[in-house]
Parts: sequence; C-alpha cells; structure tokens
Amino acid sequence: MQSLLDKIYKEVIPMLGRGKVADYIPALASVESQQFGIAICDNDGNISTVGDAHVPFSIQSISKVFNLVLAINHYGEDLWHRVSCEPSGLPFNSLVQLEYENGVPRNPFINAGALVISDMNQSRFASPHLAMRDFVRRLSENDEIIANRNVADSEFEYRARNAASAYLMKAFGNFENEVEEVLHSYFYNCALEMSCVDLAKAGSFLANRGYSKGAEEQILTPSQTSQVNALLATSGMYNEAGNFAFQVGLPGKSGVGGGIIAVVPGRFSICVFSPALNPMGNSLMGMAALTSLTKHINWSVY
Ligand code: GLU
Repeated sequence: MQSLLDKIYKEVIPMLGRGKVADYIPALASVESQQFGIAICDNDGNISTVGDAHVPFSIQSISKVFNLVLAINHYGEDLWHRVSCEPSGLPFNSLVQLEYENGVPRNPFINAGALVISDMNQSRFASPHLAMRDFVRRLSENDEIIANRNVADSEFEYRARNAASAYLMKAFGNFENEVEEVLHSYFYNCALEMSCVDLAKAGSFLANRGYSKGAEEQILTPSQTSQVNALLATSGMYNEAGNFAFQVGLPGKSGVGGGIIAVVPGRFSICVFSPALNPMGNSLMGMAALTSLTKHINWSVY
C-alpha cells in the first residue's frame, strides 16, 4: 500500500496549485490551499499515509454519510419514506426539484436530503451534534475530534438557502423540528474537523460489510452497507457523480473542505485531502489521486 501511495503522490503533486478553495464562507476561504494528503485503511486495520494525512480539515459534506448512518440505525427502512435514493442531476443546494417533488429530497447527499436526515436525528437524540461527534470519534478511535465553531457560526450566518429548503420541506409536512435548531446541528456536523487518517478509519466499515474494526462494532448490516455504497456511487460527488464513476469507479463522498472518501468494497477505504476544488466543487487533486489509484490497482466496482 505504501509504495502505491508514494507512486500516486508523485504522479499528482505537479498539479498542486490548480483549482480554487471554497469561498462561500470566509472561514473556508482562508484555508491554506497547498495541502495534499492521502490515507488508506485496509480491512485488517492497517493504515498507510502520504503527505498531509494527519492534518485535520473541515469535513463538510462528508459528514452527510455519518449522519445518514446514524439515522439508518434508528429508522431503518422507514427513512426512505422521507428521502429518495435517486441522483438529482442538479446543484447540491438547488430548490427547484424540491418544489416539484412535494418536499421529498432526491437523496441524502444533497443539502435538502441531509437536512431531512438531520431533522430525523434531531427527533431522536437529546443532543444530535454530540451524538454525531461521539460517533465519528468512536469510528476513528480519536477522542480529540471537534467541530470548528468559527466555521459553524459562519455557515449559520450564511444559512439563507439551506433555511429556505428546510422551510419548503416544512411546508410540505416533511420536517418535524424547528428549522433553526436543525440547521445548528447540520452546520456543526459540517464543521467537524478530521484528518485523512480519521476519515479513512471512520469510513472503513463501508469496505468491510458494515463492520468497524476500530470501534469493534457492526455499524450497518451487510445489505445496508451495500445500499449506502450504492448511494455514494450514484450521488456522492455532487454533479460529477457520473464522471467519478467513469474515471474512478468507486463509491465516494466529497466535501467542499477538499476531502473525498472512497471505498474499495472488501479491501480498503481511502481519504484524500487537498482544499483547492475543481469547477464542480470536488477536490481537484483528490479526483486526480483517486483516478490514479484505480488505474494502478486496476479495479472498479463496475
Ligand atoms: N456546509 C455546506 C452547506 O450546506 C455543505 C458544503 C458541502 O457540500 O461540502 O452549504
């Protein structure tokens, strides 16, 4: 694994400097763009790393995966009455489809979908943001994971579009709790800071039929794990899911903080981090690194 990572790193590093960090909130716009790291966690729990793999960064939309898993644990199949499992084909924060489709979001990885999932977790946990924090701490075996207050507050200040979609869903009867409360939990989750090592470990149950070696816990059943991986493959990469399937061929989830987690089922989970994004909002170096990875291992879920 180590020599594979070294090879990928060498191949991709000349691209460092391309792309643009997310600038929709000031707290993310000021992130140092010249960072690049990769971590792999294989199904025996071995970790390999290269570059800035230990640097914590804003996990942003990658949190949607763990938020969904928490909700699946509590709601099982009922969850799918409130959110669908189709790719949206529209920007992650679009309101258009939500109106046409009666307030039922297309999937849990667009913002509206993640907000409904957050609403479900809000109804279930006394302190949803602590439930989420403790969950990722357990999966990563790292009790130091915390959310960046600055990022969470900044997200809340610029909440208009997310608030609009939550209120629209409320108007359709698909939102139970106070919108502002749910937004606080949702932004806290997005503002969690984790490293590539943390995220590769946290996502490892997805490569291991739902079992987390770190937490020593069956997190999802094997069939639920396959379902989450299918959703990641079809909807995990914003509007670039098709290209990601074509170039990389793995289930994956990205965040505007520059992280991408991907899963090679039965073998390993991987996290790549580099903050500069391509025009679709995915880490430019991350895309290149994962493209190179699947070329080298000559493997794709397809
Ligand atoms: N916190 C972000 C938002 O709701 C999510 C950004 C992302 O897609 O990573 O706008």
